[in-house]
Amino acid sequence: MTDSSELTPAQIAKAALRRLALARQEPTPENYAQAWAEECGHGRPQAQLPHQAKPTMERVAARLMDSAEAREEFLRHVFQGDWNEASRALERAAETSAHQAQALAQVIDRIASGLERGGKQWTLARKKDSLKRVLDANRSDVQRLTHRLRQLVGSWDDGDVATAKADDGSNPEASTPGQESAAPAPATPMLWPQVVQPLQQTVRLALPADQPRAVALADELADLADRIAQQGATAALARAVADVCEKAGRLLSHRHHLLDQVHLLSQELAGSLAELAEDDSWVQGQLNSLRQRLDERPNARAVQSASTLLAETRLRQRQVRQERQSARVALKELIQRMLHELGELDQHTGRLSDGMQHYMTTIEQADSLESLAGVVREMLDEGREVHGLVSSTRERLNDEHARAMELEQRVRELETELRRLSDEVATDALTQIANRRGMMQAFEVEQARMRREGGELSVGLLDIDNFKKLNDSLGHAAGDEALIALAQRVREALRPVDIVARFGGEEFVVLLPNTAVDEAQKTLTRLQRQMSASLFMHEGQDVFVTFSAGVTAYRFSEALGDALERADEALYEAKRTGKNRTCIA
Ligand code: GH3
Ligand code: MG
Ligand code: MG
Repeated sequence: MTDSSELTPAQIAKAALRRLALARQEPTPENYAQAWAEECGHGRPQAQLPHQAKPTMERVAARLMDSAEAREEFLRHVFQGDWNEASRALERAAETSAHQAQALAQVIDRIASGLERGGKQWTLARKKDSLKRVLDANRSDVQRLTHRLRQLVGSWDDGDVATAKADDGSNPEASTPGQESAAPAPATPMLWPQVVQPLQQTVRLALPADQPRAVALADELADLADRIAQQGATAALARAVADVCEKAGRLLSHRHHLLDQVHLLSQELAGSLAELAEDDSWVQGQLNSLRQRLDERPNARAVQSASTLLAETRLRQRQVRQERQSARVALKELIQRMLHELGELDQHTGRLSDGMQHYMTTIEQADSLESLAGVVREMLDEGREVHGLVSSTRERLNDEHARAMELEQRVRELETELRRLSDEVATDALTQIANRRGMMQAFEVEQARMRREGGELSVGLLDIDNFKKLNDSLGHAAGDEALIALAQRVREALRPVDIVARFGGEEFVVLLPNTAVDEAQKTLTRLQRQMSASLFMHEGQDVFVTFSAGVTAYRFSEALGDALERADEALYEAKRTGKNRTCIA
């Protein structure tokens, strides 16, 4: 043995090779390492393993480590007696094998669902066949096997025959196990459900639920999201997602266009209705405030109030028109009767003048007083008869004239009523609480007070639950009664400073000055509990009504409409989560 402290590494290497040749040992890395150590002078004392242990150690390495590099490293440390390093190598191997087990489990999972799912290109028989070939070709290396299986199942998903060839080991360009590190880290797929599920659910919500094409896209996306959640993201899945998203995007932008068009249509309708309505009528008054709201920006509430207004207007106008029409018909009938009477009178007077001619001839030819007296008597009788007829006709005409005057008066009253309705726009005619205009007036006063004194204001929006059902089952009149009773109940439950208004249809707004929003929620929830008592009696039966509500804190100097929009969102949330509750936005 040479003194290694005097030798260069090249000389030690040469001496180690020579040592191997003399010992007739193969120049394996372990043997070489051993020889090197011995040449350096510390090989022998540290080689604590008996020679017989070597095959056992090699078997251990083969069992635990898939990569040749890892096996060599481990054995080198063992044979050099470097136990710390050897145990670190073992730990690394254990870690890698846990990862491999996880990766293998994932890929087996994908294979299982892939086999369940039939395909046109990849029939079950083809899938089984390719699987067998991959297994046969890669049995000796777990990492390589996992990699090939992953490629195979990816190609099933893609429907890509070319990739399948790569999987059976025949494609020389197939990536080597060393490239395995480019695959997603095993923990990553676990996060996919949290990423993709809410996204796909949001897209489903945005897509119109009543269009089969949109529903099909949402289903497709949900399916892709499931697959990504199970398998991790592959290039093919990413492409499929991008494709579905592009289609959904096109559909949504078309939808936005439709919304703009609907908004324009509402503006047009409100405009033409205003032109048709009589000046100063109730409709004109309502339309003006509606048009202002529609001019602001597309807003679901404004469009909804447009339809409510159209419906209400149609009803009211129809009612008044019907009454006016029947008054006119009655007047026309009267005039016809008068003409008829006049005609009859004319006939009688005609007969009288014809009779006069006859009497004059008879008088001229009369030869005796008796015959003259007879003619005069006849004349008198006839005169009396005509006089009676004339006076009774005059009486009837007087009566009918009075009736015509009455009807005319009624028409005038109805027209005045229409105008009165327009003057009353600050109060809701049915419930006698403030309407939209009244609410705005009250809000302006409240806003001015807040500017002076500060303080909070809570804005609440209430909507009766299942009101349509109530109307359908008990009739519209009962529905109206419910609105009146509810308005009164809300009014009574709140403080005198609070403002209650009918916002339209079966919706009410409450403005609660100096009230924090959670306090407002409590107040409305309390009121909701009180609604478990019957609201009113209809045909001897108790009627129960509930409502949902949304409340929000008014933000200083914002438009009331903005606060109402937030309250509406909370109201929608309350409806969505079971009704008869109050949510905060
Ligand atoms: P939800 O619980 O989701 O609010 O259901 P809903 O049935 O209350 O809601 P929807 O908006 O579908 O129906 C509201 C109904 O209110 C439709 C309309 O006929 C009725 N309505 C609106 N204004 C009046 C009114 O002045 N009188 C009566 N009787 N019914 C009205
Ligand atoms: Mg409603
Ligand atoms: Mg409702």
